[in-house]
Amino acid sequence: MNETANNQAYACKECPAGMMHLQYITYFTWLSDELITVPNFPAWVCDVCGRRDYDERAIAWLSMLLNPDAGKSTTRARWPRPPLEKRDSTRPSLG
Ligand SMILES: [Zn+2]
Repeated sequence: MNETANNQAYACKECPAGMMHLQYITYFTWLSDELITVPNFPAWVCDVCGRRDYDERAIAWLSMLLNPDAGKSTTRARWPRPPLEKRDSTRPSLG
């Protein structure tokens, strides 16, 4: 089992010198006539030629969310939001 670090990279397929780094970008896709934007979408971006490879699992996850059979309703799909960081409130309680 390999434990991978956060700053992993691999050689670019497009150019001989580039390295693909994981970055979080805003992903745009069309759902019927509606433009969907997905912030913080994982993508592998070459630092030389700028080639983008989207994470396969993220694409699979996205297509599952956008699958019209997944939830047939008139409401928009709601994106799961990362939990907000809890702030330490060191204020003394008033009253
Ligand atoms: Zn490249």
